Amino acid sequence: MQFLLYSTGLYSTWIYHPACHTLFDCGEGAASYLGKRVFGIDRICLSHGHTDHIAGLPTFINARNRSVGDPFRPLIVYYPAEDRHIGAMREFIRKTQGNRLRYELSWEPVREGASIPLAEGGKQTVESFRTRHNPRLLSLGYRLEERRKRLRPEYRGRSDIGAILRDTPPEEKHRFEETYSARLWTYTGDMKQCDLEDLRGSEVLLTDATFLDPGDRAEEEERHTHMTLEEAAALAADAGTGHFYAIHLSERYHRDRIVEAVNDERARYPNMKITAVYPGRTYTVK
Ligand SMILES: [Zn+2]
Ligand SMILES: [Zn+2]
Repeated sequence: MQFLLYSTGLYSTWIYHPACHTLFDCGEGAASYLGKRVFGIDRICLSHGHTDHIAGLPTFINARNRSVGDPFRPLIVYYPAEDRHIGAMREFIRKTQGNRLRYELSWEPVREGASIPLAEGGKQTVESFRTRHNPRLLSLGYRLEERRKRLRPEYRGRSDIGAILRDTPPEEKHRFEETYSARLWTYTGDMKQCDLEDLRGSEVLLTDATFLDPGDRAEEEERHTHMTLEEAAALAADAGTGHFYAIHLSERYHRDRIVEAVNDERARYPNMKITAVYPGRTYTVK
């Protein structure tokens, strides 16, 4: 399984990435759906402090302490620094569960540009970047990266490179190679915009496609800012995304309307895979 997710705009968003033992956001219902899988999670990366992204925290933290599993495995919650909603949630959890927890729970404030290691000495990291959502709130996206090796540009495509490498002792091979960070997977959380460079070349992109019609956004414009599906698809295509997941869709839209809108985007960007995450459904992505 690549990941497991639920995302309905306004209600709840959470994404479980088993390979990196990480939950991205923790909307309502995350723990009740995940069940025993909560014990496989070492960290939660929060994008911002809106209720639909954090309301599942008290239950998650309690389930990890009290249900049957490893109750001693530490848990780290990374969150946008100085987010007062998350501060209030943290205080609530401290007051109601703080002295009962059997595992070490730590809260790590982060800003853009943080690099979170997944395992000591490992090749994968989660990188944070800034998004534009609520103007008064720091919101973050997260990108899963893996350090990989490849041939230096001057050796790529040379027909004799196989023979050269065969004749090169292992300790000398680095002369022909360079390391780079492969961007495997990116989650933006809610947003209207971010720096395109932060999304560039991500194989998979999960981003905010709350609205199908820009007119529907007007009522929210003052407080929240989200993208339309059309804007999100254009952004994903500009960034060179391989597979775009439209998440945070508003439940006001009938399924047929979403199908139609997604098909329009597929016709516009035939080289990009597009999956709509329908409101109210939990998805397992293989
Ligand atoms: Zn949201
Ligand atoms: Zn939000």
